[in-house]
Amino acid sequence: MDKLKKLVKIQDVNLRFDVNLERYTTIKLAKTGHIAICTSEKGLRELISHLKHYEIKYHLVGWGANQVLVNCDKTLFIKLDFPFDKNIFNTDSHIFELPASVSLGQLTSIAMKKKFKGWEVFTGIPGSLGGAICMNAGTSLGEIGNLIESVRVLRKNGSVESYKCTNESFKYRHNCFLNSGDIILSAKIKHNGYDETIEQTIKEYLAYRKDTQPLTTKNCGSVFKNLPHHKAGVTIDIIGLKGFGTKNISVSMKHANFIENKGEGSAAEFKVVIDLLKQEIERHSGFQFELEVKVY
Ligand SMILES: Cc1cc2nc3c(=O)[nH]c(=O)nc-3n(C[C@H](O)[C@H](O)[C@H](O)COP(=O)(O)OP(=O)(O)OC[C@H]3O[C@@H](n4cnc5c(N)ncnc54)[C@H](O)[C@@H]3O)c2cc1C
Repeated sequence: MDKLKKLVKIQDVNLRFDVNLERYTTIKLAKTGHIAICTSEKGLRELISHLKHYEIKYHLVGWGANQVLVNCDKTLFIKLDFPFDKNIFNTDSHIFELPASVSLGQLTSIAMKKKFKGWEVFTGIPGSLGGAICMNAGTSLGEIGNLIESVRVLRKNGSVESYKCTNESFKYRHNCFLNSGDIILSAKIKHNGYDETIEQTIKEYLAYRKDTQPLTTKNCGSVFKNLPHHKAGVTIDIIGLKGFGTKNISVSMKHANFIENKGEGSAAEFKVVIDLLKQEIERHSGFQFELEVKVY
């Protein structure tokens, strides 16, 4: 990382070296690394051009709600914090272009206030718009991909491209248009008209999530993707693997597809626990669940 420390100061980019990255993911595993907080697209583009020049690897962190950072030594993590003006919603438009860093929580509050039909699909999902598009985040009410009209992407080569979404753009917890090193800058998200009952739907779904998911512990959301006819959490529960793991890192007792950091857990320990858990699941059920959480 010495090359990185030679970087000149870039406007709107706050570079932090050798910091504890714990606060940048929701599972809060201690790990030392380097992070750049970018508050403008211009600053981000300049940073990417420097990183390309020096051949330094980088990786995006949204809210860090679905990722675990393990290999931090030779990477610069990048977090976006672009300005967001809520006045954009004071129009009759059905489509809004929003920065990738806006939080889904903010959008849910707006959906309740403005009665936006369709925005209930991301109720209670912690994350940024960019991270949610990357993951095609969703609930049993639907997926965010169905609301995305287009995405502005800073490609690895430094060009900015507007990508128009189609029916082929998203799959279950997956997007089909980002390549390694691409960064979502902003997206056009639509709503499907107005629904007076939306606030009630969101409130009821939030209460359901509170009852069924460990929302107040340190975790990284669903660890495994479901198979078409087999839910990962149900399978892990039936096998009897709730609580599986170490003193620090173990399968949640509330929802078996969540792994919690109960104390001083490290990223390396998390990796060991998920590898062992995968083996146990396969040994007992024969199923191979693909990881949903991104282990970087
Ligand atoms: C308690 C809890 C409950 C959850 N419940 C759900 C749920 O019901 N449904 C669901 O789908 N998910 C759920 N999750 C997982 C998580 O909230 C979602 O996947 C969310 O969309 C992640 O957004 P993020 O901003 O945190 O992305 P991160 O976790 O930071 O990143 C996810 C991926 O997106 C990439 N990325 C992030 N921002 C950008 C960008 N601007 N450009 C390019 N790539 C980017 C990252 O590099 C990474 O590969 C839950 C998580 C928690 C902790």
